[in-house]
Amino acid sequence: MRPIIPDYLAEVLGDVEPDASGEPAGYIPELAAADPDRLGAAFATIGGEVYGVGDSDIEFTIQSISKPFAYALALSDRGFDSVLAKVGVEPSGEAFNEISLESDTGRPLNPMINAGAITVHSLTGAEDLNPAERVERVLHGLSAFAGRRLRMDEAVCASEMETAHRNLAIAHMLRGHGILTGDPRPIVEGYVRQCSVLVTTRDLAVMAATLANRGRNPLSGDQVVPETVVRQVLSVMFSCGMYDAAGDWATQVGIPAKSGVAGGLIGALPGQIGIATFSPRLDRHGNSVRGVSLFERFSSDMGLHVMEVPAAARAVVRSHHVVGSGPGALRVLRLQGGIGFAGAERIVREAEEIPSSDVRVALDLTRVHSIDDVARRMVLEVARRLTLDGHEVYLVDPESIIPDPDPGDGGRVTVVDTWNALT
Ligand code: GLN
Repeated sequence: MRPIIPDYLAEVLGDVEPDASGEPAGYIPELAAADPDRLGAAFATIGGEVYGVGDSDIEFTIQSISKPFAYALALSDRGFDSVLAKVGVEPSGEAFNEISLESDTGRPLNPMINAGAITVHSLTGAEDLNPAERVERVLHGLSAFAGRRLRMDEAVCASEMETAHRNLAIAHMLRGHGILTGDPRPIVEGYVRQCSVLVTTRDLAVMAATLANRGRNPLSGDQVVPETVVRQVLSVMFSCGMYDAAGDWATQVGIPAKSGVAGGLIGALPGQIGIATFSPRLDRHGNSVRGVSLFERFSSDMGLHVMEVPAAARAVVRSHHVVGSGPGALRVLRLQGGIGFAGAERIVREAEEIPSSDVRVALDLTRVHSIDDVARRMVLEVARRLTLDGHEVYLVDPESIIPDPDPGDGGRVTVVDTWNALT
């Protein structure tokens, strides 16, 4: 069979291709020289499959897309408290290069605007690293997200440094507020080197998929950063990743995302997929015009909005009936699907209705494919309370969805493979 996804991607790319609106970034001379017609897109699944179409193997500089990844590195290198003390998590509603700091503390509002990202760069690696070692720490970390050794574009880097007056001004302000502690110039140089790392659209999709996959690179299998860090990074991408277009993006596309001025754009859909696009012409917010159109299409075609409400929990209780009669009767609650809090609450309510005359109760998990931590605790609490009420509780759990069930104080369950054996 011909693979479906590349055909779909090619079709969507064809639809947005004619749109030549917007301009490549002009303030970095070397970027202004980029071919504006380039167009590529890639999907990387958390199962490790990468689909690329168009110019998905062309290298370009990562620019601001490095920001969420450097933030992840800083959080795992220095811990949440020390990073949050210096960089906030509030959307700024302003342009990426706005010279704005929190009025009372002098902290940059978030790690996605330049002020925050320059500070974050200074917080990567151990405190005593020299500037070159810090850049190496970041390059090594970005490479782990991509699953291959990345390198820098020295020409773009030199070109950006020549016109980096605004970023230098921001860094000096940060130094004035004591947010940066070292000499501002090498920090800005390090940040600019970080922005000059070369990636392909495929690399970016894999980097995004690593975020979507709880921090584990789906190609290399490496756990690049801890899960708690990923949740923090995705939250900040969702609220701040698209700068002053973040609200429009959150409502219309609904995928945690980050754009870069070279024309790259990534989105990470937790538990599903990493998406990347490349098209250098930018809109007035500095986001890729055709990239935004592609993401709008992907989101609506594939129902990828994170606020899309999942199928209701009511389906968790498949049936509830009594088999047999008299003292040997067995009450069976057959459960199904994936169980989270809301599903477990349904089970609790069903259990409340069980009359005390039905002594034997079986909770059948045969068709349950997943159960999260809170749901597991609630199901075990159901078992405990039923035991205390005088019931005999059986868990039908042939695949050990709940391994070593322990209902705690006064509770008791007997695990069986099939409820037929009980009748
Ligand atoms: N290096 C660029 C800058 O600091 C990154 C900005 C961006 O990609 N939005 O201006």
